Amino acid sequence: MAIRPILTAPDPFLRQVSKPVERVDDALRALMDDMLETMYDAPGIGLAAIQIGEPLRVIVMDLAGEEEEPAPRYFVNPEILDPSEEMNVYQEGCLSVPDFFDDVERPARCRVRYLDYHGEEQVLDAEGLLATCIQHEMDHLEGVLFIDHLSRLKRDRVLKKLKKEQRLAAE
Ligand code: ZN
Repeated sequence: MAIRPILTAPDPFLRQVSKPVERVDDALRALMDDMLETMYDAPGIGLAAIQIGEPLRVIVMDLAGEEEEPAPRYFVNPEILDPSEEMNVYQEGCLSVPDFFDDVERPARCRVRYLDYHGEEQVLDAEGLLATCIQHEMDHLEGVLFIDHLSRLKRDRVLKKLKKEQRLAAE
């Protein structure tokens, strides 16, 4: 396992649409292991492969609390089915948009169909933070960031700030 660098906005790479995975094999499991280690190190609760520069439809997540045992989840080629009409608002953040948090409204519940770590098809009914986190990560697979759900003014402001920080870091 290895900790990989996380791409941050406005890196244009993050705007790509990720490609479906053809086979869940050892190479893909090695990528998922790297993703999980990178996410724990950050630390974060979810990570899409595109965030470490791999444009594949793969997500890892762990919503366990600090006092709880780790509970890693792996989603390969996830699809959202039956999003609820009822909406929920959570304050979201993103490892690719460091140090910025804001409220985003999304369907409160959804069903997700995906392949697990072993390539087995699974269906999961998600609600609460899990539903929000899955939808946030699924957005990454389409090249969408959570700040795209905010007003243009807020989005431009955070992108400008990140650009400036990256320029300073590069000097
Ligand atoms: Zn994110």
